[in-house]
Amino acid sequence: MTESLHPGGESPGRCFLVGAGPGDPELLTLRACKAIQSATLLLADDLVSAEILALAPPRARIIHVGKRGGRVSTPQAFIERLMLMAVREGETVVRLKGGDPFIFGRGGEEAEHLRAAGVRVEVVNGITAGLAAPASLGIALTHREHAHGVMLITGHAGQGGRGVDWREIARTAAAARLTLVIYMGVSSASEIEAGLLGGGLDAQTPVALISNASLPTQAHVITELAQLSQTLHESGLASPCIFVVGDVVRAGDAVAMFNGAARGPGPAARLTRSA
Ligand code: SAH
Repeated sequence: MTESLHPGGESPGRCFLVGAGPGDPELLTLRACKAIQSATLLLADDLVSAEILALAPPRARIIHVGKRGGRVSTPQAFIERLMLMAVREGETVVRLKGGDPFIFGRGGEEAEHLRAAGVRVEVVNGITAGLAAPASLGIALTHREHAHGVMLITGHAGQGGRGVDWREIARTAAAARLTLVIYMGVSSASEIEAGLLGGGLDAQTPVALISNASLPTQAHVITELAQLSQTLHESGLASPCIFVVGDVVRAGDAVAMFNGAARGPGPAARLTRSA
């Protein structure tokens, strides 16, 4: 393909990297909504709900590039080539990602590659799942009486098998009074539990497990660190799921009860539909 960049180095089309939020269309930003409505080509991850895609104009082409539901994931290089080609042809390309594009989900890599190819990328924030999920239960991640800050961390082992050092994370969280918000933790729940306990976090540290946050299928359990993986297993909660670990969960749970989202008795609370 011939280069068709403008003399100033800008491509004729526009390219947006947009966060679609945790699922509920009402949690889209106005800017995200406008970008979607201006799209001629939309590339959507599988965590983006159908209602959000329905905001795209009828003339827009929508391409699903996710890997859930047994489908094969579209190779990253292919997605980026497609975006480049479309922008150079003058299209308005919207790359839609669940949550926030720069919180996990590879938005950073994608933006770098596009910029390196001379495409100006306009980034639109989204509400990340790690903020939406606890808020839906009334959990204030940085409640002044319980935490000095929050750490967003992946439960997924890194490339080359280098996983997260959960003992070190526990020590840091205890020393700095941080709430932990763990993404992609379902498949390594038992290592997370063992590591955090091994690093010195209290066995009774409250934990919230929240799946499908903001969607009609949202469900959660409140438990304690020593029962994290057992509770997850018994509840049947599946990905996408956020784990919140820290004393703020206890305070939030009271708010949730006040709001009518009752929790079950005992440390391993029963599964609760959050809505
Ligand atoms: N960019 C996204 C995160 C992508 S990584 C964001 O900012 O939210 C995918 C992980 O996000 C999932 O494994 C899960 O841990 C979390 N996640 C995404 N949507 C979620 C939802 N609606 N409810 C709970 N967790 C969610």
